[in-house]
Amino acid sequence: MADIIDGKEFAAKVRAQVAEHVTAIKNDHNITPGLAVVLVGEDPASQVYVRNKGKQTLECGMASFEHKLDVDTDQTTLMAIIEKLNADPAVHGILCQLPLPKHLDEEEVLNAILPEKDVDGFHISNVGLLATGQKAMVPCTPLGCLMMLREKHGSLSGMNAVVVGRSNIVGKPMAQLLLRDSCTVTIAHSRTKDIEALCKTADILVAAVGRPEMVTGDWVKPGATVIDVGINRIDAPEKGTKEDGSVKTRLVGDVDFTSAGEVAGAITPVPGGVGPMTIACLLANTLTACCRANGLAEPQGLTA
Ligand code: NDP
Repeated sequence: MADIIDGKEFAAKVRAQVAEHVTAIKNDHNITPGLAVVLVGEDPASQVYVRNKGKQTLECGMASFEHKLDVDTDQTTLMAIIEKLNADPAVHGILCQLPLPKHLDEEEVLNAILPEKDVDGFHISNVGLLATGQKAMVPCTPLGCLMMLREKHGSLSGMNAVVVGRSNIVGKPMAQLLLRDSCTVTIAHSRTKDIEALCKTADILVAAVGRPEMVTGDWVKPGATVIDVGINRIDAPEKGTKEDGSVKTRLVGDVDFTSAGEVAGAITPVPGGVGPMTIACLLANTLTACCRANGLAEPQGLTA
C-alpha cells in the first residue's frame, strides 16, 4: 500500500509557518497582512468556502475583509469595489470567489485586480510571469500540490510528470510549476489518445479532471506519486438516505484510491489531500503579497 500524503496535517504546518511570519511582521514592522474576499450571490458551496477562508485568515493573525454582495449586483458596482480594494493599503490580497453569476464578466473582474494583490494568481500578468519563469502570484491549488511533491521528494528534477486536465486554474499552472522544477511534463486532456499508457509513464501523476475515480490502479506506474485534485460528490447508498428520502452522498477524487493506492508509492486521499492545502496556500500567498508590497524578505518554502 502506498504512503498516504496527509494534506490536512501538511496544511496545518503551512498555516503555523504563516502565523509565525505574521507575528514577526506585526512585531517588527507594525504591519498586518490583510485579505479581502468578495462574494457575489448566495451559492451554498461558495458561502462555505468564504466562511472557511475568513476564519483561517483570522486564525493566522491576518486581517480579513469580507464583501458579500447581492446576486443581482451589476458589473460597474463590482468593478468599483475591486478598485477600492486595489487602492486600500491595508489590503494585500484580493480574492473574488468564483463562479460569478452569469450576467457578470468574470475575465474583466479578475484582470481588474492589481497583479500584486491577485492572491488567486488568475490575472493575465501572473499567468505570463509564471509561464516565463518570473516571480508571479501562483494559483493556490497547484501551489499546494507542488509543496506536497517537494516535501515528499525534495528535488523533482528529471522526473516524468503527467498532468491530466488543462484548465487555467489547475492543469496548466500545475504543468508550468512542474516544468519550472525541471520535470519532463506532459499534459493530457479529453482528446488524448491512449491516456492510460501515457499515465503509466509518470513518476508524478496529477489528476485534475472532475470525473469520479477515473484514474485506476492499472493507469499508475509502480511506485509513482499520485496527486488527486478532484472533488466529486457521488451517491453513497451504503450510507442510507437523508430525511427527504434522497440517497446520502460522499466525496471522491478523480483517482480510484483503493486500486491506485495498491500500485503507487505515495498518494493523496480525498478528502484530506489537496483540498486543505488550497486555503493554506491562499494564506501563504497573502503573506507573500504583503512582504513584496513592503519590501520585506519573503518567507522561505511558501512560494513556488
Ligand atoms: P475543468 O472542468 O475546468 O477541467 C477539466 C479538465 O479535465 C479539462 O481540461 C478536460 O479536458 C479534462 N477532462 C475531462 N474529461 C476527461 C477525460 N475523460 N479524459 C481526460 N481528460 C478529461 O476542471 P478544473 O480544472 O477546474 O477542476 C478539476 C477537478 O479538480 C474538479 O473535480 C474540481 O472540483 C477539482 N478542484 C479541486 C480544487 C481543490 O482545492 N482541491 C480546486 C479546484 C478544482 P478538455 O480541456 O479537453 O475538455
